[in-house]
Amino acid sequence: MTHSQDTVIVIGAGIAGLVAALSFKGLRVDIYANAPMGQGTASNWSQGGVAAAIGPGDSAAIHIQDSLIAAADIADRTAVEFIVNKARDAIHFLEHQGVVFDHNADGQYALSREAAHSFPRVARVKGDLTGPGIMAALQQQIKQRPDIQLHSGWKILDLIMHDGRIIGAFLLDPNGHVHRKLATAVILATGGVGYLYKNTSNPKTAIGEGIAAAARAGALLSDLEFVQFHPTTMAVGLDPSPLATEALRGEGAVLINDQNERFMPSIHPLAELAPRDVVARAIFAQIKSGHNVFLDCRAAIGSGFAEKFPKVFALCQNIGLDPVVTPIPVEPAAHYHMGGVVTDLSGRTSIDGLWACGEVACTGAHGANRLASNSLLEAIVFGQAAATDIMNIRMTKSPYAPRETSVINYVPHDVAMQAKELALRAMMRDRVGVIRHADDLLWAQAELEKLRQQNLSHRLGNMVLVAGMIIHMALERKESRGSHYRTDYPNLDQAWCRRQSTTMQNLMEAA
Ligand SMILES: Cc1cc2nc3c(=O)[nH]c(=O)nc-3n(C[C@H](O)[C@H](O)[C@H](O)COP(=O)(O)OP(=O)(O)OC[C@H]3O[C@@H](n4cnc5c(N)ncnc54)[C@H](O)[C@@H]3O)c2cc1C
Repeated sequence: MTHSQDTVIVIGAGIAGLVAALSFKGLRVDIYANAPMGQGTASNWSQGGVAAAIGPGDSAAIHIQDSLIAAADIADRTAVEFIVNKARDAIHFLEHQGVVFDHNADGQYALSREAAHSFPRVARVKGDLTGPGIMAALQQQIKQRPDIQLHSGWKILDLIMHDGRIIGAFLLDPNGHVHRKLATAVILATGGVGYLYKNTSNPKTAIGEGIAAAARAGALLSDLEFVQFHPTTMAVGLDPSPLATEALRGEGAVLINDQNERFMPSIHPLAELAPRDVVARAIFAQIKSGHNVFLDCRAAIGSGFAEKFPKVFALCQNIGLDPVVTPIPVEPAAHYHMGGVVTDLSGRTSIDGLWACGEVACTGAHGANRLASNSLLEAIVFGQAAATDIMNIRMTKSPYAPRETSVINYVPHDVAMQAKELALRAMMRDRVGVIRHADDLLWAQAELEKLRQQNLSHRLGNMVLVAGMIIHMALERKESRGSHYRTDYPNLDQAWCRRQSTTMQNLMEAA
């Protein structure tokens, strides 16, 4: 057991954690991530890019409007304005770190158009290699900063609280030893929850362990019911499912079923570029009615595929598919979590000493549905905001005297636990997914209750906790809005034109 003080702890080494760490000056920063450097992050897999109203004719006002519309009326306008107004600075910050965005021959940014954006607005790196491009540059910067230590393979078990304040974290090292690390501030940057679902575009680390730790500490949580499903992940039997970026549809690729019929034009005026939830439900309905669905890039992209979309092209090649001549089989998959740990515009959570940024956080900027490519933007802006806030407040030494005892009852995540994990994920896909109904949600809740009675590994216990809270909020919201669609309440309800916030303790009392 070890401990350290006068340090900022960042949990997570995706874009949010790395940007936060790099934004500190004059403080020691320890980053802990439960995967090797460059792995286990959604950031590294992102394809589309960073939304920023920097193209001709575009403006922050239009970007704000598009974000609010996509969010189905319940985004926090202040948070939307905060990220959108800082988008140009965020791009410049990344460039300063060594990221090279694509430019046209005339020297202007080459911007992609994605669903529900009024303009081409998504800044990208080498076509669809945005995530790897950004992450490589940030990791390079981290290596050059002696004040920042990156500890790979370390997993957060829980936050340490003293007198109502977070003063550190219990961490499991790669050798299975528990450490008690003290800090003057802790930033959660643990990413999303997509891997709670059997079909997902997210890495295995994305099971909401940051939400679980914050929930146990009593943090306010919000909007957990809103899980965005990406309409077009490749239906090729891989877990996680490789993504076929939305920018393909932005370039004109169309969705067809196995009858060679386009079905989107009759469903939404924007057809393939309708909001994600609309496209995801349309594909889901086709699949439910026995059709296979394909993304047909032949006419719109054709022979330019490998150059314009090298990442997707390589993924297709891995499975022996040539997208220049063959449509890509696609299906929806859990992709992005709008909900999470509530923060203000400084990234502060409801508990002193704890900040959150990136997908684990709920800033309110995404409401019921995230506008595509607003999430990398949010992670950059709030990573910076959290670091700035921590540097601005008076840092005090933790008054806590560390005890050399462990509170962790560690159960290994063995083969039996892995089987239960898979069953839970399939249940989340089938009962708590693209289309929901009270009967399914209650069924899932009862199954989780049975699991809760068992002695579970830390990982599975966290999955049960977070899945249970998502289901609870999904049951509460008796309407359909944004990514949350219920066949028993298929319409918007004005009475529900608001966000839901609660604590784990309140949820347990209500149960
Ligand atoms: C395939 C794909 C494509 C995407 N494309 C885009 C796009 O083009 N534009 C866009 O804006 N958004 C995109 N998104 C969403 C965006 O990538 C994510 O929202 C964003 O990268 C999240 O960043 P993050 O730093 O919060 O989390 P992540 O990048 O997921 O990083 C999370 C970090 O936390 C660590 N971690 C998790 N749990 C623990 C634990 N218990 N203990 C210790 N460490 C832990 C992980 O190891 C990892 O280091 C995409 C997502 C996916 C999956």
